[in-house]
Amino acid sequence: MSTISPTAPAFVYFDNAATTPLDPEVLEAMLPFLSQHYGNPSSLHGPGRQVRAAIENARKTVAHLLNAAPAEIIFTSGGTEADNYAAFGSVRTLGLKHAITSPMEHHAVLHPLQELAKSGEIKLHYVKHDAQGTLDLGHLEELLAAQSRTFVSLMHANNEIGNLNDIAAIGDICARYDAVFHTDTVQTMGHYRHDVQQLKNHFLVGSAHKFHGPKGVGFIYTRSGLRVSPLIHGGSQERNVRSGTENVYGIVGLAKALEIAVRDLAAHHAQVQALKTRFIEKLRAEVEDVQFNGLSEHADKSLYTVLSVSLPPSAISEMLLFNLDISKVAASGGSACTSGAQAGSHVLEALGCDPGRATVRFSMSKMNTEAEVDYAVAVLAKLYRPVAV
Ligand code: PLP
Repeated sequence: MSTISPTAPAFVYFDNAATTPLDPEVLEAMLPFLSQHYGNPSSLHGPGRQVRAAIENARKTVAHLLNAAPAEIIFTSGGTEADNYAAFGSVRTLGLKHAITSPMEHHAVLHPLQELAKSGEIKLHYVKHDAQGTLDLGHLEELLAAQSRTFVSLMHANNEIGNLNDIAAIGDICARYDAVFHTDTVQTMGHYRHDVQQLKNHFLVGSAHKFHGPKGVGFIYTRSGLRVSPLIHGGSQERNVRSGTENVYGIVGLAKALEIAVRDLAAHHAQVQALKTRFIEKLRAEVEDVQFNGLSEHADKSLYTVLSVSLPPSAISEMLLFNLDISKVAASGGSACTSGAQAGSHVLEALGCDPGRATVRFSMSKMNTEAEVDYAVAVLAKLYRPVAV
């Protein structure tokens, strides 16, 4: 059993699926747009045109990294707005009467679709999945075969348990039924390669703060030929798709962060996967009855950045995150709620997880180290040390 090192780090940050620290190189790229380049990109004068050029360069960078055309990229305030735009825009513009999703999607997808269902605009269907969260693609096909043209929203990777969905296979199925296919790629953008020429998606989304960029800025890729009505109306910015003066420094930071993420992707993947493997092995060795939610422990079936740990029932379960915080470990958690009485995790609940077990999500980035993994495991091992009777 390990003991906690007396030279514990100042703070161990394992909540990178919530948000990542800003890369200093990204900050450097943003700073001129917070100081000297303050023109409004819609202005026709020199200072305005200079800022407009920076936005269009950022658009070209993002498009190039996705193998898309610049006109297919629209900047948004983040992943939530992008998901909302895809759902509301598709259903309302194209007059779709059905939507298919999964109960494990992020609320940025689930809530808009549930709103559309509540208002009677669509009938909402959920794809079946097994106890580990693997989607039943046969059921997806059955649902599609039974409806007219449908909106499908199935995420690339789950933010809580890390499960990866096969979006290439889902795209092929959607294409066979002429469905409009949206994928929430917030957790995989900058961490996996996305080539829109290889995928059949109509939409993909990104959020800069999940790949060491700034908060409050994201984008949506919309396949050319598909035009859906805006969510935000006003001054016609972003090709009349998303009005509002652009978050210029955010957009510049997003493009820089994505460029760095894609440039270093292979090394980052190898480094963070090694940390995750170490985490799993050490937890198994040092914490009794530790389990992993969904497909989290499977390297090729889950995000290399996310490890969802299920801990045995214990008196400390309710205070687990607080105890980790006191020990200077930042992580997030949740549990399946009991009979809907408390607000638990809708994802763990959909999986049918035991509400008596606590879940901690450790999510890693290139800025984490082996020493931090060892420290977090030692903290958990101490918290879950069996009490002598
Ligand atoms: N979708 C997923 C899968 C996420 O993990 C998140 C953020 O946690 C979002 C959407 C929302 O993104 P944003 O924070 O940029 O609004």
